[in-house]
Amino acid sequence: MHILVTNDDGVLAPGLLALAQAMRELGEVSIVAPEQNWSASGHVKTMHRPLRVKEVRLHDGSRALASDGAPSDCVALALLGLVKQPVNLVVSGVNPNANIGHDVTYSGTVTAAMEAVITGNLPAIALSLDGSRVHTASLDYAPAATIAKRIARKVLEKGLPQGVFLNVNIPYLPLEQIKGFRITRQGLRVYRDALEQRIDPRGQPYYWIGGEAPTAIPEEGTDYEAIANGYVSITPLQLDLTAWSALKALQAWGWE
Ligand code: MN
Repeated sequence: MHILVTNDDGVLAPGLLALAQAMRELGEVSIVAPEQNWSASGHVKTMHRPLRVKEVRLHDGSRALASDGAPSDCVALALLGLVKQPVNLVVSGVNPNANIGHDVTYSGTVTAAMEAVITGNLPAIALSLDGSRVHTASLDYAPAATIAKRIARKVLEKGLPQGVFLNVNIPYLPLEQIKGFRITRQGLRVYRDALEQRIDPRGQPYYWIGGEAPTAIPEEGTDYEAIANGYVSITPLQLDLTAWSALKALQAWGWE
């Protein structure tokens, strides 16, 4: 098995190293990841400038490729030929913060997995840790890495339905306190963004999208409810965003 590992926090992020080391127990691993942090950068295809790639060493001495593109660019680069050996699975993460509800549209972690479906028609897993209550620098990724390995092994064994990828969120708990796995649906985030206007030294206004950290609605069966109750949330996602329930209603408007 050959597994491509990427992330959105940058190639030297500890979550990527933990994930890559866990994946090495399942097969051969190639790493192509952004050289910088692209968190909340969404789905990107860089078309108006060249992409540069350089070889770097992770903290365990292993070899990785770092690109100046977005996470989705990294997956496209790898699958379009930068990585020579055929890839069986793409894993992205481990992100230090949960990606639930509408987060999936912002998330570089998740959009890297989307790109695996688009460019490679491959099974893909996005992995995020609900570590927002802990200082990022002191996060322990070991339990998440163990869980990533269990999920990846199952996906390699069973395959995923055509066009489906997994958005996995892991509660920040010691392994023995994690209650199990839940197959969930995408929940609803509650964003509490607030615009802050400030004045620069030349008297010009500039803006920050600030505000408090988002919360979410703990509806039964959702990603958020699962992690809030100590379960690993596995949400199968697809790229068909059609609002099927609205098709008939819109057709009935009459368009002649
Ligand atoms: Mn991130």
